[in-house]
Amino acid sequence: MTNHAAPATPEEHKPSNFLRQIIDKDLADGTYAARRWGGTPGDAAHHAAGPLDTAKVRLRFPPEPNGYLHVGHAKSICLNFGLARDYGGVCHLRFDDTNPEKEDTEYVNAIIDAVQWLGFDWQAHDGSGTSHLYQASDYFDFMYRAAEHLVQAGLAYVDEQSAEDMRANRGDFGHPGTDSPFRKRTPAENLARLRQMRDGELADGAAVLRAKIDMASPNINLRDPALYRIRRATHHHTGDTWCIYPMYTFAHPIEDALEQITHSICTLEFEDQRPFYDWLLDKLAEGGLIATPHPHQYEFARLNLTYVLTSKRKLAQLVTEKHVAGWDDPRMPTIAGLRRRGYTPASLQLFAERIGVTKSDSWIDYATLEGCLRETLDGSAPRAMAVLEPVKLVLTNWDEVMGEGTLDDCSAPVHPHLPELGKRSFQIGREVWIERGDYEETPPKGFFRLFPGNKVRLKYGHVIECTGAVKNAAGQVTEVQARVIPDTKSGTPGSDSVKVKGVITWVGVADALPAEVRLYERLFSEAHPGTGDTDFLTQLNPGSFKTIAAYVEPSLAAGGAIQAKAGQQFQFERHGYFVADRIDHTTAKPVFNLAVGLKDSWGK
Ligand code: ATP
Ligand code: MG
Repeated sequence: MTNHAAPATPEEHKPSNFLRQIIDKDLADGTYAARRWGGTPGDAAHHAAGPLDTAKVRLRFPPEPNGYLHVGHAKSICLNFGLARDYGGVCHLRFDDTNPEKEDTEYVNAIIDAVQWLGFDWQAHDGSGTSHLYQASDYFDFMYRAAEHLVQAGLAYVDEQSAEDMRANRGDFGHPGTDSPFRKRTPAENLARLRQMRDGELADGAAVLRAKIDMASPNINLRDPALYRIRRATHHHTGDTWCIYPMYTFAHPIEDALEQITHSICTLEFEDQRPFYDWLLDKLAEGGLIATPHPHQYEFARLNLTYVLTSKRKLAQLVTEKHVAGWDDPRMPTIAGLRRRGYTPASLQLFAERIGVTKSDSWIDYATLEGCLRETLDGSAPRAMAVLEPVKLVLTNWDEVMGEGTLDDCSAPVHPHLPELGKRSFQIGREVWIERGDYEETPPKGFFRLFPGNKVRLKYGHVIECTGAVKNAAGQVTEVQARVIPDTKSGTPGSDSVKVKGVITWVGVADALPAEVRLYERLFSEAHPGTGDTDFLTQLNPGSFKTIAAYVEPSLAAGGAIQAKAGQQFQFERHGYFVADRIDHTTAKPVFNLAVGLKDSWGK
């Protein structure tokens, strides 16, 4: 059974990319169908993915649970889970929790939530019901066993140089490193020392286990990289069982191998790690500890999005220093924040498809993300009228023409292209709310809305002719005045009798629903926040959040045709797409967040 999200683009229209080409070739060659296991049953038991499986594409998404996932992770999730879906394979969700210090179950839950919300799951699709949700810390036993194997094979040693000596002896780009004096230790000596490390007989930092590769390698990652360090820290999952922890570069390939991943897809910064990935897995395969062929690593360019930070550390700083209201603040580029802002899984999947996967770094314009949201909401979001900056419009001849106190019924389609969604209804009377900006005493050229003497249509209602406005002592307009032209209501035979150039949106004073509207803009005013020497905190956009008291049409209220439920998106006509806030919105106190405007008006 699968409840994978449907792809945003049908399979046959999907642009190919270098990863699809690699997978196609591996499937055609049967690369992983020929996977063989040469080890002992004891080691086989560690294989998390169960018995050797054949032919299938097996991918993984391996977040470290040290923060909330962001839009860059969304790219990686859509890529990995999307490829698994498209190739009838599976994608594992694996918590890379090998670092005991920074991890938290709050993050674990938020990550599960984000991946599921995006429309993906980690179930086996072979009817077995297997859930491929893993924690790297479950493999600590096997990782240690692999470490002992390397030691016994003469491929690793315990180094007790000081941290400074180790750094100095590593060399740098132009200079080869220098062998550690501990490099010549015998396997027996190393094994005894490693066990002492494990058993807590050495102090934190007193020794590290290192691979014995080549201190002169032009790739610094192959200059005897560290495999294990001593760190007395309580792990959120294994508690105090261990006082030594594997390094990420050692742990990660092993996690992939144990889960029988086929294609281990990561971002470009790991390219230089690939030789070590292969070295380690080759050695473990030779030792019979893992199946062959072992997984291979492929790198793609990470997402860089203008106006957005995609560093978990910096995002955490925004939260802990309260520059935003939390990880799910609608201005945050976290998946939780985007969701609260009004983004949909479909919009993020479309975005991931549109930006594609390449091997060269670039910046994606934030407007591309916004465009995907508009595009996916346009065809389905119910329409509604809202007045965000209200001023009262009085139809001075209403009582005389329509009858005193009359409220006239108006209706509008829920969606202009989806008649099956029905109609929404609201009433027009002597007083309606209009946008302050829709009236100009002395109109600039090309202004077709309200100014003395001009006729406009109140959308779905009547044609009116503006007669002027009332102002307060400060010169601010407090009331706009107009006369209704009888028999011009939309949908009636007379509606075409008067031609107008302007149509304005409105909400009746009698049936308006007051609502809090939260207007969001980009969190940063700089397109590349935090790059160079600039502190990203100095680039926060001071106008990124504003709350206003607005009026929305009554069909959004309880019992209305488009009653707003928390988390639901609407197009407020002429304004943009809004979402009923998934946390704060209630029918008693409606709250709408601006998700994205109707047009890209940034910078204007
Ligand atoms: P950290 O600095 O904490 O390691 P990270 O962003 O690398 O942060 P991980 O939890 O390690 O976070 O990332 C999980 C996966 O998401 C990795 O495979 C990583 O390559 C991928 N990923 C992270 N950031 C991006 C990005 N901006 N674009 C695409 N993929 C990303
Ligand atoms: Mg990482």
